[in-house]
Amino acid sequence: MALYTQESIDRVKLAIDIVELVGARTELRRVGTRFTGLCPFHDERTPSFGVNPELSLFHCFGCGESGDAIGFVQKTEGLDFRESIELLADRYGIELKLENEDPAEEERRRHRARLMTLLDRAAEYYSRYLWDSDEAARARAYLSERGLSDDVLRAYRVGFSPSAWDKLTGGARRDGYSEQELVAAGLGKSGRQGGFGDGFRGRIMFPLADPRGRVLGFGARMLDEGRGPKYLNTSQNEIYHKGRQLFGLHLARGPAAKEARIVVVEGYTDVLALHQAGLEGCVAIMGTSLTEEQMAELARAANRIYLALDADKAGQNAMLRAARMAGSRDVELRVVTMPEGRDPAEIIAADGREVFDGLLADALSVPEFEVRRVLATADLSTARGRDHALELARPLIATVPERTASRDELVRHVADRLDVPTSYVVTSLDRQRAPARPAASTTRGPGGGHGPDQGAPGSAPIEALIGAERDLLAMCIADPRIAAPYLAKLTDDHLSSGPLRRLRALLAECPDDPIAALPSGDPELAAVAGEVAMRSEEVPTEGVVIRLGFLQLDLRRIDRELRAAVATRDHATQRELWAERESVRNELEEVMGQAS
Ligand SMILES: [Zn+2]
Repeated sequence: MALYTQESIDRVKLAIDIVELVGARTELRRVGTRFTGLCPFHDERTPSFGVNPELSLFHCFGCGESGDAIGFVQKTEGLDFRESIELLADRYGIELKLENEDPAEEERRRHRARLMTLLDRAAEYYSRYLWDSDEAARARAYLSERGLSDDVLRAYRVGFSPSAWDKLTGGARRDGYSEQELVAAGLGKSGRQGGFGDGFRGRIMFPLADPRGRVLGFGARMLDEGRGPKYLNTSQNEIYHKGRQLFGLHLARGPAAKEARIVVVEGYTDVLALHQAGLEGCVAIMGTSLTEEQMAELARAANRIYLALDADKAGQNAMLRAARMAGSRDVELRVVTMPEGRDPAEIIAADGREVFDGLLADALSVPEFEVRRVLATADLSTARGRDHALELARPLIATVPERTASRDELVRHVADRLDVPTSYVVTSLDRQRAPARPAASTTRGPGGGHGPDQGAPGSAPIEALIGAERDLLAMCIADPRIAAPYLAKLTDDHLSSGPLRRLRALLAECPDDPIAALPSGDPELAAVAGEVAMRSEEVPTEGVVIRLGFLQLDLRRIDRELRAAVATRDHATQRELWAERESVRNELEEVMGQAS
């Protein structure tokens, strides 16, 4: 790529007023021949940041950032050298000359510059029309109902296109722009019955700008349903490239560079709402498909990318695709779990910034996100379904480095959802790594483990765990009289699947003949009840066995609740649960003494 001549770069440098440039970012105070203020690169309460206007340099004694005016633009805007020069040249009205530019190239550049001016004028026109015209009153009402302030609408230069046939193009042609140029800029088109008119009419206009804020095209939202597509965008042309566009990037770059984080949402109004709430480092991908080019732009803007896309299937798939793309780049991708059916704009309007910040804080890493998806779509009501889910989750967990907090957390989450001990998940990961290795030996605690929770993972441990629940219910059917006190103590928390819980409720209601009392319309419950009833003919009915069975389930319940209390740092509940666990363990010891 050709470079600008040294002469034109020098002219830009000479034109820069570094005090004004830096002053737009942080308030500066004169001290002698220098200026000082709060550092825009790190958080501080007392100024350690200084500007030397004579040498056109800045330096921070707090964090060590320093450089010249162009460096300042690079750092605060997240631009490279060339882009910073271009931005400054624009601002100070200096024409940049390229080294060794051939005449044809120069002609193309001038043509492009003319189209860019045309697009900028269109944005200005639509914006004025939004604020000043009677016709746009409904658009103003629509935007203000969404809680968007005039300030934020002006910052993004939101506008309205007149519904008349050729208001914009007519004016532009009077100013000397050709039909060809209007078509090339995506602003004009030929009508079906001949004639030439505006490409956008009767729509709310969102200018789509490049990273420096230069308008390249428009996204246009229909105000009335049923008059053409709801959203209409500038189609691909010599200026506008759809796949590269990120709405709001020009305003997001600075804040994103400073926070080392950029938030990605789906829609224009989401960006506006977040910006208005003070979260300025955010952009929209305008729809749900994220392209490689957009990902490259995001990675340039910040090394942590937060995806806050819809919870629906399209949004989820977009996040997965993004995850794969991010894998090859040096960026950290976090997936924000959005509540079903709600977008960031609604959340900000209804619940405020804190709630959205909370969602960002809880964002998942890519493996966590993928594992949750596997678990969410798996059938966890059967042992086979859970074994299958673990098969799918294992390689995903394996991508997270061992002995890290996030790996432990992920293992715990999977164990909780599959209702198996964490040791089982860990062992299954070991097995995956070293297939020849025999199954690990038991993980008996010092007090001697008795429940299935303490056992070594066998060939089908999930089956065994469900089996313990099923068998206890089978014993309740086999001898309702002896089982009664245990059935009374049994709660949903002891059982790991919906059908088993419904069977418990049924048994509590009709202990003597649950099968006769089966409600219609619950085939899952009917299947489980039939299976358990059959099993009831094989299980032992001695009181001590039922008691043992119950204590085992109770111990597993306590362990599950303990894991949850540890995860939420609920220390009071942890203490209670440890005491409860101790007493159940003692009782188990006692029963085992009786049984042996
Ligand atoms: Zn600093």
